[in-house]
Amino acid sequence: MIARKGTKLYSIVKLKCPHCHEGQFLESHPYDFKKLGDVRSECEVCHIQYEREPGFYYGAMYVSYALGVALFVTVWTTCNLWFDWLTVWSQIGLVIFFTIVLSPYLFALSKIIWANFFISYKSNATVRE
Ligand SMILES: [Zn+2]
Repeated sequence: MIARKGTKLYSIVKLKCPHCHEGQFLESHPYDFKKLGDVRSECEVCHIQYEREPGFYYGAMYVSYALGVALFVTVWTTCNLWFDWLTVWSQIGLVIFFTIVLSPYLFALSKIIWANFFISYKSNATVRE
C-alpha cells in the first residue's frame, strides 16, 4: 500500500486531516448531499484550523478543474484503448456519466488536495505541548 500514514496521499485517499492524519476532514461522507463537500472548521483531534483564511477553499476550484480534466482523459483513453467498439456518443455519455457520479467525490478530493498544499503532516501533531 503506497498510501501509508504520513504521506499526503494517505490524507487525500482517506480524507483525513492533512496535519495529524487522524481527524476527519469533512463534516460527513462525500455523498451526503445535505453537507456536500462541507469541510469541518477544525480538526477534532489536533485542532488545526482547516479554513486557513476566509474563502480559502475557493482555490480548490483549480484542483477540481484539473481533476475533471484528468477524469475526462482517463475515461476517453480507456474507451479508445480497450473499448474502441463504443461509438463516440456512448464515449461522451460515459464521460458525462462518470463526471456526474464522481463529482461529489472529486469535489471533496479537490478540497483535501488543496488543503494538503498548505498544511503539512506532523507525526506529533496530536501531542499537546
Ligand atoms: Zn488533525
